[in-house]
Amino acid sequence: MAFLNENYLKLQAGYLFPEIARRVREFSEQNPNAAKRLIRCGIGDVTEPLPRAAIDAMKAAAEELGRRETFRGYGPEQGYEFLRSKIAQFDYRDRGVDISDDEIFLSDGSKCDCGHILDVLGEQNKIAITDPVYPVYVDTNVMAGHTGPVRADGSYEGILYLPCTVENNFVPEPPREHADVIYLCFPNNPTGAVASRAQLASWVEYAREHNALLLFDAAYEGYIGDSAIPHSIFEINGARECAIEFRSFSKTGGFTGVRCGFTVLPKSLLAQTESGKKSPLHSLWHRRWSTKSNGVSYPVQRAAEALYTEAGREQVRTLIEHYMGNARILREGAQSAGLRVHGGTNAPYIWVETPAGKTSWQTFDWMLRELSVVITPGSGFGSKGEGFFRISAFNSRSNAEEVDRRLRETSANQEQISTKHAKRS
Ligand SMILES: *Cc1c(COP(=O)(O)O)cnc(C)c1O
Repeated sequence: MAFLNENYLKLQAGYLFPEIARRVREFSEQNPNAAKRLIRCGIGDVTEPLPRAAIDAMKAAAEELGRRETFRGYGPEQGYEFLRSKIAQFDYRDRGVDISDDEIFLSDGSKCDCGHILDVLGEQNKIAITDPVYPVYVDTNVMAGHTGPVRADGSYEGILYLPCTVENNFVPEPPREHADVIYLCFPNNPTGAVASRAQLASWVEYAREHNALLLFDAAYEGYIGDSAIPHSIFEINGARECAIEFRSFSKTGGFTGVRCGFTVLPKSLLAQTESGKKSPLHSLWHRRWSTKSNGVSYPVQRAAEALYTEAGREQVRTLIEHYMGNARILREGAQSAGLRVHGGTNAPYIWVETPAGKTSWQTFDWMLRELSVVITPGSGFGSKGEGFFRISAFNSRSNAEEVDRRLRETSANQEQISTKHAKRS
């Protein structure tokens, strides 16, 4: 009999979203009327249709593939030059960041890249991960055998956790301890926090001092409205020697179902062998792609390219404005319900403190029962997420407005309830 990868057995059963689905199902069966007005502000998936520029480009590409004269088979594994050059130009060089076309590697999304990057990194690395966090960083390290067993609070032995709290504004400072690989995500999922230039600079400084590698997830950079906040880790001097960036068209172009993202891996980035010999990671990553992948489909690359046309950029801007409009409405709604809110100004997520004494899951149940609104309990993103919940702004405007209305109603009701109590006592 074949042996299995026992690291997978250390993973906690895919707990968060299945458990949400289970509770929603149970509630809906018991309350069929309330179920009809259920609004989901839980899962971080886009809701609005694709930009027209992307649809037209995809159709035209499909037609090209349908004619002998313009047919294409396998493309370059790291992606077509027509797209890599647009990314490097528009997202980097036009913003004064020195990135060349061949430092861009296209993929079917950055979730995949966050996992695959471990292929080119050694087993010995001390891994540091923020808490709360996008679960992919943790689970892929568990699968690769980089951790010990899980603890009672859901954390893993062997990982250095960096707490993101109200006190540090959800942006951790570099630790005193040594780490070799650090995962950072700004704007952040789930907290909606952004890191300032000075904060990112302190991370680059740490990485250079410790010869560490920063894995920077910038999936939400398109949502940054504040012009002082960097969009890329490569806006920080010295980052070309210590960072890899992950980006995606999922949250900008609404490509969660289309699938396209990319990594930026500078040729100047080195890592070491066990014997201390330094070598560029770029050639290993290139080799990994050539060996394990045949790249992203041609129509999808054309669709991504179309997001860089004038019309495409305008349509992406409109999409992001739509979601950020929702974020503002939901943020204000939660605030007027008397809740303490974070994030939601440079990211499509609002990170809300649970009402006094309630756990994340108790608040989840309360929101479901009282408002018929589904949110994500913060504890599902890590032990430091306990005491919070995440409201996603990925929704229609009418749903966001309805959630806002319900939140304001509860606060009015609660005031009534508390005045009644006050009168009686
Ligand atoms: C949505 C998201 C991504 C993008 O994932 P894709 O695989 O490109 O769809 C990456 N990182 C974070 C933190 C995300 O929330």
